[in-house]
Amino acid sequence: MKPADTGAPVVTGTPAATGTPAATGTGDTPDKGRTLAQLADVKVDRVRRIGVKRAEALAGVGIETVADLLMHYPRRYVDRTKQSEVAELNLGEESVVLAEVTTARYRRTRGGKALVELDVRDSTGALKVVFFNQPWRAKQLPAGTEALFFGKLDTYRGKRQLTNPVVDLVGNRTGRIVSIYPTTEASGIAGWEYGEWVSEALSRAKPVHDPVPGPFLADIGLIGRHEAFAGIHHPDTWAEKTTARQRLAFDELLRLQLEVVIRRHVSQRDARGIRHSVGPDGPAGDLVSQFRERLSFELTKAQRHAVDEIERDLAGPLPMNRLLQGDVGSGKTVVALCALLTGIQGGFQGAFMAPTEVLAEQHYISVRSMLESLEMPDTGRLEGRRPIGVSLLTSRTGAAERARTREGLADGSVDLVVGTHALLTDDVRFKALGVAVIDEQHRFGVEQRAALRSKGRDAASGEGADPDVLVMTATPIPRTAAMVVFGDLDMTLLDELPSGRTPVHTLWARTDDDDTGVWERVRTEAASGHRSFVVCPLVEGSERVQARSATAEMERLGQTVLAGLRVGLLHGQLKASEKEPVMSAFRRGEIDVLVATTVVEVGVDIPDATVMVVEDADRFGIAQLHQLRGRVGRSDLKSWCYLLSRNTSPEATRRLEALERSTDGFELAEVDLELRGEGTILGSRQKGRSDLKLATLRPADRRLVQDARQVAEALLAQDPTLENNPELADELRLFLGEDAAFLQKG
Ligand code: ADP
Ligand code: MG
Repeated sequence: MKPADTGAPVVTGTPAATGTPAATGTGDTPDKGRTLAQLADVKVDRVRRIGVKRAEALAGVGIETVADLLMHYPRRYVDRTKQSEVAELNLGEESVVLAEVTTARYRRTRGGKALVELDVRDSTGALKVVFFNQPWRAKQLPAGTEALFFGKLDTYRGKRQLTNPVVDLVGNRTGRIVSIYPTTEASGIAGWEYGEWVSEALSRAKPVHDPVPGPFLADIGLIGRHEAFAGIHHPDTWAEKTTARQRLAFDELLRLQLEVVIRRHVSQRDARGIRHSVGPDGPAGDLVSQFRERLSFELTKAQRHAVDEIERDLAGPLPMNRLLQGDVGSGKTVVALCALLTGIQGGFQGAFMAPTEVLAEQHYISVRSMLESLEMPDTGRLEGRRPIGVSLLTSRTGAAERARTREGLADGSVDLVVGTHALLTDDVRFKALGVAVIDEQHRFGVEQRAALRSKGRDAASGEGADPDVLVMTATPIPRTAAMVVFGDLDMTLLDELPSGRTPVHTLWARTDDDDTGVWERVRTEAASGHRSFVVCPLVEGSERVQARSATAEMERLGQTVLAGLRVGLLHGQLKASEKEPVMSAFRRGEIDVLVATTVVEVGVDIPDATVMVVEDADRFGIAQLHQLRGRVGRSDLKSWCYLLSRNTSPEATRRLEALERSTDGFELAEVDLELRGEGTILGSRQKGRSDLKLATLRPADRRLVQDARQVAEALLAQDPTLENNPELADELRLFLGEDAAFLQKG
């Protein structure tokens, strides 16, 4: 048993903490204090004044160790210098009052909600305070209690009252800034108590060890970790709170970036890359330049830049691992084809994977037509000139066709395969996969990316090489967020649309009159030979339910507002053999209006389509609406997007108005992040991401994210496996758990 277990309540994982600094093993070096990993081994009941009961209450809100205690940060702060007297409070204004409870009552409303009503007063007057759904307030605030109430004054039946204010039991606390903690109050723990425990823990940690080498901190202007913990819990000034937050947020981001950079090192160390030959004069020939010459348009500057960056990766010894981010319509497909053709002209194969059948089929059609006139050059490894072999492989591909494609991939006669996740099945083997492209990568998981990459090697012998991988996304994510979420990828931005595009005119149709205008537009566009999409309302339930509702909607529209027009239907339940004729009829203009489910969301490319109508648009997210809108405005024709919705709630309004205001996907991504928070971007599959308590992925923290990345790279350049920074390694293990296995592999 450790000595500390029997003695006074101390915060320590090692005997050293009970001694003086001179008593630590090495003698000369001052005690560096407890590391976060050590503090994560100390249960909270070892902190003075936390008994068994308190420890249980804390465990109830997920705080079990001293590390948990320190990292349970205040939710907000109240400035006591802004404190008012009851008589001075103004209606509708946020304010703080210090008052005593004179009576407290608990009852249920007629709707069954818990209601706690207080009368409170100070020397200048009285006030009512009510809490809904917080039954524990009655116990927390019995008559005679003095507390700070923070909220906005309103009136109810002519009486002045505060509804659901933030409460702080003052205790004997002084100081001008009061920290308010989340969730602890409900468990009967007062804010002031919490603050005292933190102080106690900090004074016993002696100090909290700082694992980041001082010079790095000095460079960025960050304070020490111990000081930061003290500052975030007990700031004396707002500036102190801010610098404390900066430091602790930086630590969160640094852990993430260390993880990302180490992972990347590990994968590069184990990689066997291909040096592709690039450029028209290379020994492998000129497929790419032939392709570029035959395009009916010039590449944009952004596309040329992207192709250059990708070619540099392809020529290099390490496998490419690059993300191509571009707004809808920015022309990613052409860039992807340049990459694929570079591989093919050197005698390798390409794979182009898309998330849906519709998209894969469409890519297949357009890739075939773009590559039709090209011929494989004579590279010496191949016999003579021949057309490029392109195949389609999805789960709907028939058995005979599938067998032929598999054979072609194995013997090398298929140069390029376009497909869905069907490409990932075990029986699909390549002779020599050189370049893999994944479109709309957010629809796939990390594992699927890895699975496609692994197709370059023989599953049994490991022979072969790792293909270069390009992932593409048309759902831009904000730059700061991308550095965190896709930190292991290099990034290229297509930040320019082909010239001649006019922004899609977007209108939120809120009334019957608006709707009439919408259908009129669909008719006049049809009369000029252009096409429209109508996206059906989202319905709960299976694909089958959605298909049925889309069918009904098509019939309804065809008999009413769209009567007389040629109306087609597309939904996920149709077989490829049924979808294909509909899509090509629509493409050729034999159908005027395509009523569809969200299967048309990604990638569908019909240049003559000029109207997008989205029914019940408030049911869709910003990114999805932007994607849908991206189906029109794909040529120099003027285009319209109509968002049909009667929902004028503040939330729906902000989304729909954002789309009316902006056609810039990156700008909309920022709005989306603002509205929905980081969770949706980070996703739950990324472990350790929940470590972000203070740091955000918003522009305000961009500098911190960049700093964290630089420090991670610099640290790992000196010490690739963190063996000289064991405290940091321990900390990564603490936050990543099982996921930190890569640390040992060093
Ligand atoms: P996305 O980036 O949304 O996948 P696509 O690759 O489907 O965009 O391209 C959108 C449309 O723009 C296609 O019809 C494509 O042929 C066309 N396109 C691509 N690049 C250019 C360019 N540089 N100039 C004109 N049109 C282009
Ligand atoms: Mg695309």
